Amino acid sequence: MANTSQNIFLTKKEKLRCNSCGNAIPFGQAFVAESEDSKGTCFACSPFVSYTLLAPGNVALTRRSKKHSTLCGVLFSWNQRRKRFERKGQYVEAEAIVKAEKECAADEASRATKNMKAAEIRTIQDKIYIQEFGKAIRAYYPNCPLNREFEIAKHACEKYSGRVGRSASAKQFDSHMIDLAVEAHIRHVETNYDSQFGKGKRKKEIRLDVGGTIKRILVSWK
Ligand SMILES: [Zn+2]
Repeated sequence: MANTSQNIFLTKKEKLRCNSCGNAIPFGQAFVAESEDSKGTCFACSPFVSYTLLAPGNVALTRRSKKHSTLCGVLFSWNQRRKRFERKGQYVEAEAIVKAEKECAADEASRATKNMKAAEIRTIQDKIYIQEFGKAIRAYYPNCPLNREFEIAKHACEKYSGRVGRSASAKQFDSHMIDLAVEAHIRHVETNYDSQFGKGKRKKEIRLDVGGTIKRILVSWK
């Protein structure tokens, strides 16, 4: 409802007076006016006396509470070092802040729902990906043990999670990619590769050790 804002200055002047009650407004107290050189009132004579100060920092809450409040008074305080007035928050109706907070909370809930849905979609996409990748592996290695193709595909999918586009079409699985996945699987599952580390052997040596076994199994699965 408040389309415009009223300025409220924590004044840096010594001799301001309220245009309504005539009282002096001491240095550092709130002066409600367009500028410090305009005519204005003390805070007590202003409509903001019953309002609530909302601290700055939350852009959505600031915008929404202004929208729901009859009036909006922006509080400024003087920054001596920078020689300028700076925003210190806004006076709005307490009810407006409550409404704005509710709206922000509702947004948060819908954001959380969106994220959950995205995660579900990703899970389904992963499953499709594994299925399709598995089929492609089976086509290249028809003699590989039953259901092993999906184990290989699942591992590859986890390994490359987020790095490969998940639009699972058979075309995206080229033979090189399949060979690498199958080879890695054989290395870890069908050889003693993993248990040889930490015994003084270098990775290169260990790879060489299991190389023959891997090749033999690869050929037998073809
Ligand atoms: Zn006054």
